Order: sequence, then structure tokens, then C-alpha cells
Amino acid sequence: ERIIAADATREDDAIEASIRPKRLDEYLGQQPVREQMKIYIEAARGRGEALDHVLIFGPPGLGKTTLSHVIANELGVGLRQTSGPVIEKAGDLAALLTNLQPHDVLFIDEIHRLSPVVEEVLYPAMEDYQIDIMIGEGPAARSIKLDLPPFTLIGATTRAGLLTAPLRDRFGIVQRLEFYSAAELTRIVRRSAQILGIDCEPEGATEIARRSRGTPRIANRLLRRVRDYAQVRADGSINRATADAAMAMLKVDPEGFDELDRRMLRTIIDNFDGGPVGVESLAAALSEERGTLEDVIEPYLIQQGFLVRSARGRMATPKAYQHLGLRAGPATAG
Ligand code: ADP
Repeated sequence: ERIIAADATREDDAIEASIRPKRLDEYLGQQPVREQMKIYIEAARGRGEALDHVLIFGPPGLGKTTLSHVIANELGVGLRQTSGPVIEKAGDLAALLTNLQPHDVLFIDEIHRLSPVVEEVLYPAMEDYQIDIMIGEGPAARSIKLDLPPFTLIGATTRAGLLTAPLRDRFGIVQRLEFYSAAELTRIVRRSAQILGIDCEPEGATEIARRSRGTPRIANRLLRRVRDYAQVRADGSINRATADAAMAMLKVDPEGFDELDRRMLRTIIDNFDGGPVGVESLAAALSEERGTLEDVIEPYLIQQGFLVRSARGRMATPKAYQHLGLRAGPATAG
């Protein structure tokens, strides 16, 4: 398992409850999103209405689930959580919807994985707070309309492009989460350290933040691993030196890349002459799934300028050559 995997592990889930921000002012970074949501929430509360439906997209670990809980808390309403693949039948969704209290939030993670049949049920629910359900079977079957309480659907997905157009169009509010800056992640690490009672010097927090790929979930996980190291190999406090040493042990380099990132860049350079190479060929060469490359590995490499994605495929940039200690590739050799 990758230490820098952006997906949640069991251990992440276990400590989640204590460190997950509950209010907007604890939700660090993502300033434009925070400012907009503050206004929308206040306006909906002022009118005594349910908040418009919200679509949140962004790579794993950036705070989509957290933001949904924060929104429900700030609205002072309940939240029900489910995910696209879990809702198998139209009836499953109907049961969830009819159990909501007025103005509640229904959070659907991985909303792009809803089946088409279930998605159909969602349209009138979102638009008119109504669902059509079939009762009975055979010739006696008929459809009845059920009124739902006004509610807010919050959908989360890793990429907006994965959603069908009719579904996307039914969200009044669309928020895109960005990778966090090192300064923002430093604040997140220091906040978590304080909650977990970890002695962490500012330089130690900065070092962890810098290697966390712009992702709070990774920052929180690295913090715990560095704490283990500091406890066993040093006096337990996290500073620049213990953070560096722990990262060397974990094989997380100063850019926050691990073997897999370096292997991807190396493969593009060695096997495909620096690119462009199509994502399918690259996935085959790396024995990884295409989705893993697209959702997990490349977004951060692209955002940091080590990789570019064009219509013809992926290309390693001069920065990638430099990072791997290679001479600049075709892109600059001209
Ligand atoms: P996602 O749903 O996008 O995969 P989560 O909402 O589960 O991500 O967030 C992952 C972890 O990062 C959580 O443990 C949460 O505590 C932390 N986190 C996320 N966003 C923030 C934020 N803005 N400020 C502080 N901590 C955050």
C-alpha cells in the first residue's frame, strides 16, 4: 500500500472523527469555495429554505466528504451518507429520500457511479422534490408520485467529466476543490498535531506539508508516520531532522513523490522517449489501471509541472528530467 495513497485507509478512518473539521472556519484553505459556501448557506438559512444542490469535485483526499459534513453542520441539519455504487436499486434511493427530514443533506460520494435507473429517480427528486415509484407487478402495476421534504443533495466526484450532462445540470452550486498550498497544509498539520497531542515544531510541520502532494489526507497520514519515527528513533518531537529522516525511510522524496511516481516519469522518458504517449500504452507499460493513472498519479504530477497532457498523450517536462537527475530531454534539446 502506498504511504502517499490519496484514498482513505482503515487507520485514516479511525482517527477521522477527531481531526475532521466540523465548521467552516476550521476548514482550512480552499478560500474561494469557503467564501462562496458561507454566503449560500447564510442565504438559504435566512430564507428558511433547503440549500441548493451542491456538486463537489476534486481528487481524492482533498476534503469533499469533510466539506459536505461542514455544510450540514453550518446549516444545522442532519446528513445521510451513501455512495453511488452502494445504491443498487431505485427502491434503495427512494428509501433514503423518503426518510429525510426537511432541509437535510443527502451526501452521495462517487456520484458518477450511480446506475442509469437510479439516476432517473434522482432527476425529479432534485428538481421538484418528488419521486415516481412503481407499486405492484405485472398488469396491476402502477406508478405513484410521492412528495419528498425539501432537501439538499451533495454529490462528490473525482472528475466533473465523469457525470452525465442531465445530472450535472441539476446542481445549482458546483465547487471544484484545488490542491492545497504548502502553507495551507502546514496549518492543517499543525492543527492535527495539536488535536492528537503530537509535539511538532513549525519546521517539522512545513517539511511534512511540502511532501504531502497538496492533499490533507496524505498530510495527516505522514504526520502519524513521522510521529512513530520520532518516538522510536528520537525524543518524540517532530522537527526538520526527524521529518527528513522519516521521509527517507518511507521513500517519499522532497517533492512528495514515491516509487510509483518516479517509475511513471521514468517509463515515459525511457520507454517512450519522453512522450507523447497515450494513457493506455502507459498503463500497460506500468501494469497499472488507466483509472489509477488518471485519478491518482497524474493529477499532482501535472499540477506540479512534471507532466503535461495533450491530445496526443502524456509528455515528461524538463522538470521531470531534472528531478530524476537526467539530462534535459527532447523538449529542451530542440
Ligand atoms: P475526500 O472526501 O475528498 O476524499 P475527505 O473529506 O475525507 O476527502 O478528507 C480527508 C482528510 O483530510 C480528512 O481526515 C480531513 O480531516 C482532512 N481535511 C480535508 N479537508 C480539510 C481542510 N480543508 N482543512 C483541514 N483538514 C481537512
